[in-house]
Amino acid sequence: MRKKIVAGNWKMNKNLQEGIALATELNEALAADKPNCDVVICTPFIHLAKVSEVIDHSVIGLGAENCADKEKGAYTGEVSAEMVKSTGAEYVILGHSERREYYKETPEILKEKVLLALANGLKVIFCIGESLAEREANKQNEVVKAELEGSVFNLSAEDFGKIVIAYEPIWAIGTGKTATSEQAEEIHSYIRSVIADKYGKEVAENTSILYGGSCKASNAPELFAKPDIDGGLIGGASLKCADFKGIIDAWK
Ligand code: PEP
Repeated sequence: MRKKIVAGNWKMNKNLQEGIALATELNEALAADKPNCDVVICTPFIHLAKVSEVIDHSVIGLGAENCADKEKGAYTGEVSAEMVKSTGAEYVILGHSERREYYKETPEILKEKVLLALANGLKVIFCIGESLAEREANKQNEVVKAELEGSVFNLSAEDFGKIVIAYEPIWAIGTGKTATSEQAEEIHSYIRSVIADKYGKEVAENTSILYGGSCKASNAPELFAKPDIDGGLIGGASLKCADFKGIIDAWK
């Protein structure tokens, strides 16, 4: 049975003290009221080691928002997958549309990052999704298939099993516009069929596919009720404990 997951992506928000406070609050809230799904928080690099100490890892997984495409060495300012893992983190988000767009991360760069993350024992939350122009041209299926083929379909079936897919239509990220649950289900089901064509039905059935894009407590229950939506990757609504917990509770 594939996992239900609610993962937060803090992006470049919260200083260290604010981040520790948020993680501590969430840890307490989930200790008092156990979640019905896996919960992950992905934080800026500088928060990882401290946040790792304040959370119960059996309830909250910890992840980075990125890692380097090089193993180690003279790459000033970069943070390697090994360094991420050494903080206690278990996950890393790769392929987020903000990294693809603002930092020009290509499918080849992402392929390297994925390989290094897996080699260092991290699970990857791999983001895919189309722009508004691509959706309007009805190219969303083509785009997500190419993104999978470009960076993760080189993996063995065993390694692909360590990948969580996050479908995030770029036009819905941080815009307040959410894909309807029907639109999201349609493409999630397509993504699962593409994975089945590549790795077989069993692998596809075991792959968690999260929806991301203006997901909040009010729309999460309808989205999560769809058969191919296995949870959410949450940006803005992961920055307040009550908002994030509201989405986690959509699984109850
Ligand atoms: C994201 O960027 O991963 C995201 C889903 O953001 P938001 O929830 O703010 O749209």
